[in-house]
Amino acid sequence: MDIIHLLPDSVANQIAAGEVIQRPASCLKELVENSLDAGATNIQVLVRDAGRTYLQVIDNGSGMSETDARMAFERHATSKIAVAQDLFALRTMGFRGEALASICAVAQVEVQTRRQEDEVGTLIHISGSHIDSQEPCQCPVGTNIKVKNLFFNVPVRRKFLKTDQTELRNLLNEFYHIVLVYPHIQFTFVSNDEILLELPVGTEKQRIEAVFGKGNKSYTSQFVDIATDTEIISIRGFIGKPEAANKNPQQYFFVNGRYMRHPYFHKAILTAYAGMLPGELNPSYFVYFDINPELIDVNIHPTKTEIKFQDEQTIFQILLATVRESLGKFNITPSLDFNREGEIEIPVVPNNPHSDPTSFPTPHVVFDPNYNPFSRTTKPVVKGWEQMYQQPVEEPIQLFDTPLSDIVPYQYKSKYLLLPSTSGLMIVNQHRAHVCVLYEQYISQMNMGKGVSQQLLFPEVIDFAPDEMVLMGTILDDMRYVGFEVEQFSKNAYSITGIPATLNAQDIQSALHNMLHLIRETGANAKDEWRKKIALSLAEDTAIPYGKKLTKEEAQHLLEQLFDLPSYRRTPDGKTVVSILSDEDIQKRFN
Ligand code: ADP
Ligand code: MG
Repeated sequence: MDIIHLLPDSVANQIAAGEVIQRPASCLKELVENSLDAGATNIQVLVRDAGRTYLQVIDNGSGMSETDARMAFERHATSKIAVAQDLFALRTMGFRGEALASICAVAQVEVQTRRQEDEVGTLIHISGSHIDSQEPCQCPVGTNIKVKNLFFNVPVRRKFLKTDQTELRNLLNEFYHIVLVYPHIQFTFVSNDEILLELPVGTEKQRIEAVFGKGNKSYTSQFVDIATDTEIISIRGFIGKPEAANKNPQQYFFVNGRYMRHPYFHKAILTAYAGMLPGELNPSYFVYFDINPELIDVNIHPTKTEIKFQDEQTIFQILLATVRESLGKFNITPSLDFNREGEIEIPVVPNNPHSDPTSFPTPHVVFDPNYNPFSRTTKPVVKGWEQMYQQPVEEPIQLFDTPLSDIVPYQYKSKYLLLPSTSGLMIVNQHRAHVCVLYEQYISQMNMGKGVSQQLLFPEVIDFAPDEMVLMGTILDDMRYVGFEVEQFSKNAYSITGIPATLNAQDIQSALHNMLHLIRETGANAKDEWRKKIALSLAEDTAIPYGKKLTKEEAQHLLEQLFDLPSYRRTPDGKTVVSILSDEDIQKRFN
């Protein structure tokens, strides 16, 4: 007897629904996206019990014909793509034709819809994929969908839902993702007859204020604009000033009008802020990407918030540079603010019983309209723009009045080198300076394919986790170029017989693990990317530590090497290396 048969549609739809509709929030998302695709300019969402018993979306979009309204609930029924090719040029939100079929498989649905050209509309009742009735009705142009008793026929799913409070938060989050990119569309959100959000048409900034500012008109003054326009991508948006960072930041990425999660680009933004944020606080940001849809793939996940870009590393650099530029324009980069980072201990303040602890100067933002890390103001030219984003190009200004070899730097607290420069008192972070120097050195060793090694007296065998073993295999050559002599020892261990001349024999294990960790964490998967991570990680592990006293010659040598680099102001991961206390600032302190 043959045992294979096709599943009835109602069962197939229920299975698909498990993927597409996990909770009321996914239902909201699908319905509102359909309204947007239908060209609506006014969309209302009404829910009861966090959408469990009732979720309604009313739009003034195109509406559907009598037949289309029925067809819409069939699986893979869509008006948005016709052939597989269309998938690569998506400009609409939906395209799978699964949403309505999924919703009606797990709820009781009522649809009222009418097109402009039709005298009467149509009203359909569907429950568990079964059309109970369809009849003509009087209704405004547009579509009005009610979804009642979600998961009425899937008790397991129902039980899976969280408290009303959590589900309402999920609903609002989905709603935010949409309303933040459609400021020119009017939205309303009503929960249990209470209007929670009423969003008039406005600009993106006004929309952000309306959603998160809670009536506080100055909410968006905590942000600075970012904007860049390149061959492959345009980036616009708003990033929080460092002093507005908090424990509960709003962080949003959008691409072509669609919300996305992107941990790697998130990392780019945080990198730009490196060294500016106190402890566990984080910046808010609203970043809007615009890119040729052929360069992204939105189809990798059914709920479509993860998006794959063709050239993520370049975009990472562009984003990093853009955010840095804006932070720099507003001179938000720290000037004399050493106490913010964990690695630096707070200097001892003399105990004065009369001093008021609140009177310590708080860091302030000084606007420097002339600052431009690229030392150019025109739009990037087509050729060679990538290099612009590699590292900010430093202006060829004269740094010192006297030759560096004549200057005797003063080492302060075994951490900073102080020296006179053309524009003021220069303060150099010794550890970071050395990181920059070593980084360049390791990169060039890898580019040339040779490194300097010191032999170990006894080989060291180091165990690795399975994924680390795979990674080790990939980067083996580059590790040899920076000076490791390394061979696979067993299924889960490598033996090390030589190490970079700069590395301490006691630190081998942690240096290797740090390196693998950094590569994995940043998702570096192209050769030049992991090379950067190897160089950075090793530079950090081998650079002069804080607390090390330097002789005059050592300090001078370090500075000479540093100022020989094409880029010395920041470490490769964006931390400030050199800070200048300007002559005016010094003068002001004595007024
Ligand atoms: P998709 O959006 O992926 O095409 P859906 O199941 O969400 O699939 O919708 C199926 C079809 O129903 C859409 O392609 C569209 O033609 C129609 N439709 C759905 N919602 C609306 C709406 N609010 N207004 C007009 N047409 C709609
Ligand atoms: Mg849809």
